[in-house]
Amino acid sequence: MKTIDILIIGAGISGAVLAERYANKGKKVLILEKRNHIAGNCYDYVDENGILVSKYGAHLFHTNNEMVWKYVNRFSEWYPWEHKVIARVDEKTVPIPVNITTVNTLFDTSISTEEEMNNWLEENRIPFSNPSNGEEAVLNRVGQVLYEKMFKYYTKKQWDKYPAELNASVLERIPVRNNYDDRYFSDSYQALPKGGYTQMFEKMLSHPNITILLGTDYFDVKEQYKNFEKIFYTGPVDRFFEFKHSLSEQLEYRSINFVSETHDCEFFQENSVVNYPGMEVDFTRIVEYKHFGNQKSDKTTIVKEFTVDEGEPYYPVPNPRNQEIYAKYKEEADKLVDVHFVGRLANYKYFNMDEAFKNALDLFEMLESNNYKTAG
Ligand code: UDP
Repeated sequence: MKTIDILIIGAGISGAVLAERYANKGKKVLILEKRNHIAGNCYDYVDENGILVSKYGAHLFHTNNEMVWKYVNRFSEWYPWEHKVIARVDEKTVPIPVNITTVNTLFDTSISTEEEMNNWLEENRIPFSNPSNGEEAVLNRVGQVLYEKMFKYYTKKQWDKYPAELNASVLERIPVRNNYDDRYFSDSYQALPKGGYTQMFEKMLSHPNITILLGTDYFDVKEQYKNFEKIFYTGPVDRFFEFKHSLSEQLEYRSINFVSETHDCEFFQENSVVNYPGMEVDFTRIVEYKHFGNQKSDKTTIVKEFTVDEGEPYYPVPNPRNQEIYAKYKEEADKLVDVHFVGRLANYKYFNMDEAFKNALDLFEMLESNNYKTAG
């Protein structure tokens, strides 16, 4: 085997960024990837209906960070895509985030100005100066009725916890608008890669200094792979330490069961993503991929998302209990000088794609520009 300088575990965003950076610096990089494909949860492919679908749920790129935006543009062309989400509530269809249309549709009001919307929110919200959990965060923004209709049960389905059992930050991901803006995000760059994410990752990783072993679980082979300058681990942090903290202290993760259906029609629904915040169905949302990039096909593929406990970990569950457990793992992780924990699962943080890019780029800069040298 040729000499390897850098071992990377996982070929998702964090792993691919670090591999690309180190390879271009002249280092020999080996990536071990448990799955049989690269791109982590961004992995997409053309399905039997000729539609580009994402295996692990829709990935909408958005950022305000110039550096990240420039970086991702090196590996793909991007087309502008301002994501919108609608929700079926009380047999009506409304925009989410909550905006003027949401309130008018659900409550038969006739709000038409920002001032009127501000007044409506002021009359309905239950103020919390420093919301300590997700319930307080939503009540503080939109009040009890919208909380019940749009957030309480969606959150229960998504996390198997009510908003009161989660950090405020989870629910604060979604803003409230006092105008008609119906975009899900308001970042300055909102776009999707032409040709999909997998192609982009292929480009990032196609470097003679990078070797990728797919279908290879690091924990099965780690005795064979030793003596690297650095290791970057992007898997679940507790797995690295063999779940050493006791059973009653297991970190929680949520997984998603994606159920695809083909429909023999042009479109199944009027928007790429339709949320179902009520308890009348078990799934949280339906994604119809054909909408992204206005794809053409005689048929359409829809995917219902059922969030579940068992299965591959996708989401860390941000609440005080898990943070406390994570802190113990982090303490262990910090002791390992040449092993770096990077990404959503290794840092047990619910962050967006652009943050994943940024963290990996920052880590590389930090390690390589500051004479931050380790032994070996
Ligand atoms: N959420 C909700 N109702 C919705 C959409 C989101 O209650 O219709 C809550 C839910 O707790 C969710 C959180 O807001 O986990 C953040 O939503 P986001 O769309 O950012 O989640 P993701 O895209 O990561 O699934």
